[in-house]
Amino acid sequence: MNRQIKIIVSALILIIVLPAVFFAIYEFNSSSNNEKIIRQIYENQLGMIIFSLNSASEDMVSTWGNKLSSYYWEQGKDKNLAEAKIKAFLKQNKTIRFAGFAPVKNLKSGDLYMDGESCNSEDKKTFEYVLVFNKQGINRLVQYNKEGYRKFEPVAGPENPDITYILFISEFTDEPVVVCLGIDSKKFINENLGPKIKASANNMFIVSVFKKNDGAKVYSNDIENNAVYSPKKTIWILPSYEIAIKLKGVTIEEIAQKRINENLLLVAALILLLIAGGIVIFRNIKKEMKLAEIKSEFVSNVSHELRTPLALINMFAETLSMGRLKTEEKKEEYYKIISQEATRLSNIVNKILNFSQSEAGKRKYNFKQADLNEITEKVFNSYQYHLQNKGFKFKGEFAADILDVECDPEAVAEAIINLVDNSVKYSGDTKEINIRTGSNEKFVFVEVADKGIGIPDEDQKRVFEKFFRVSSGLIHNTKGTGLGLAIVKHIMDAHKGRVDLFSKKDEGSRFVLNFNKPEIKP
Ligand code: ADP
Repeated sequence: MNRQIKIIVSALILIIVLPAVFFAIYEFNSSSNNEKIIRQIYENQLGMIIFSLNSASEDMVSTWGNKLSSYYWEQGKDKNLAEAKIKAFLKQNKTIRFAGFAPVKNLKSGDLYMDGESCNSEDKKTFEYVLVFNKQGINRLVQYNKEGYRKFEPVAGPENPDITYILFISEFTDEPVVVCLGIDSKKFINENLGPKIKASANNMFIVSVFKKNDGAKVYSNDIENNAVYSPKKTIWILPSYEIAIKLKGVTIEEIAQKRINENLLLVAALILLLIAGGIVIFRNIKKEMKLAEIKSEFVSNVSHELRTPLALINMFAETLSMGRLKTEEKKEEYYKIISQEATRLSNIVNKILNFSQSEAGKRKYNFKQADLNEITEKVFNSYQYHLQNKGFKFKGEFAADILDVECDPEAVAEAIINLVDNSVKYSGDTKEINIRTGSNEKFVFVEVADKGIGIPDEDQKRVFEKFFRVSSGLIHNTKGTGLGLAIVKHIMDAHKGRVDLFSKKDEGSRFVLNFNKPEIKP
């Protein structure tokens, strides 16, 4: 790995991979913390449902209490009517087993109403007992009342544990009067609280009520047994019962775990994405660096290619202008060299111009019907003398029939020339070049084959890339721009044809220009 690549890799690790890994570790560690927080949030939400059920229960008792105490207050006007109203109310509302009223100053002088009937002396005794037993609590309630706050104080009854005595101070009398409602706890839970539970649970939660001392289930809106409830809270007005709630189907732990798993999965996907992004960036940077390197190589190659013919032209022109050459033959030879080098110069410049036009998509092609045999033969003839002079065996094999294709003959000739030039440059010691035309089922083709240095397998795809030159073999001694084959490819793409390469290192190369066969019109 060279230094620059090492720097890029380190930068990518620092910028992308390290933060991603830290983030993942952080997420992983904080997941248990998150679980706690999520559980807390859910518990709070469920706690709110219980809170609203508790408030609703207290409201119910408050409404009953208000109604009964307003009837009792009417006693002052018409005692019989008031009594009748209280009894009728109790008859109608079986949850309230009895209602008692007593002035705080004299707790033993109260009135007790029961289930529509007058009560016996035993009942009255129990009522008075409860009031006297809770005297301190009643005084506290009076104090609260003075401060503008009405509190409901549930207390246990002496005989029937299922009856809860709820004490509060009536608002309808000047002198404080304590009201005591005897609530049938189970009836209240099943008949009054039950419908409220059903409405709030909305089929999403299981809400059950348990007796605290023995854990017996008194009510549930669901048949599921063994449910694990959380949270569980005491019912304010029935302190010996508790109300418990859980989400239907899943537990809060399961929900929390699911969310954490989803988060972790998301983090993992994010990290993978970042790493993939890092790899793409790395590849692009590497490619750009390689291109920059190749471009600078190209500039030095081109400069070299331009400098050599220029130096030769300069040298021979100077010699001629000094008039030192005696014979006409010598002069002729020098003029020829100057003209040859000038052609070489203009070829290089043309190559670069053609290439830049092709790259910019500005190169214009003049398509017409032309015979591929004819185009190839022309190139072959123009090279024959020159190559034979250089010691090449140069053979042409042309198809017997006319190979008509829709093409730009000049561009096709340029492509063939580029291939022949390369075969000359990369031929090494076995100087043998064959040009062949022909057709097969799909294509009409021209083939240029040599027995030169060949192209290694791994480079065969890349030789058509701009500026690319194989970095071994003859290359260091051979001049070139790395544009010839890129131009060939451009030309073949413009003709909707393709260029195939068959080559083996040290054995030679065969380039085939394939043109689509013209459609035969019926
Ligand atoms: P260049 O100006 O370097 O010849 P080209 O685009 O024509 O550029 O060719 C790209 C590279 O492909 C050459 O540098 C050479 O390494 C390799 N190449 C092209 N033609 C041949 C061939 N006939 N034999 C061996 N190698 C070849």
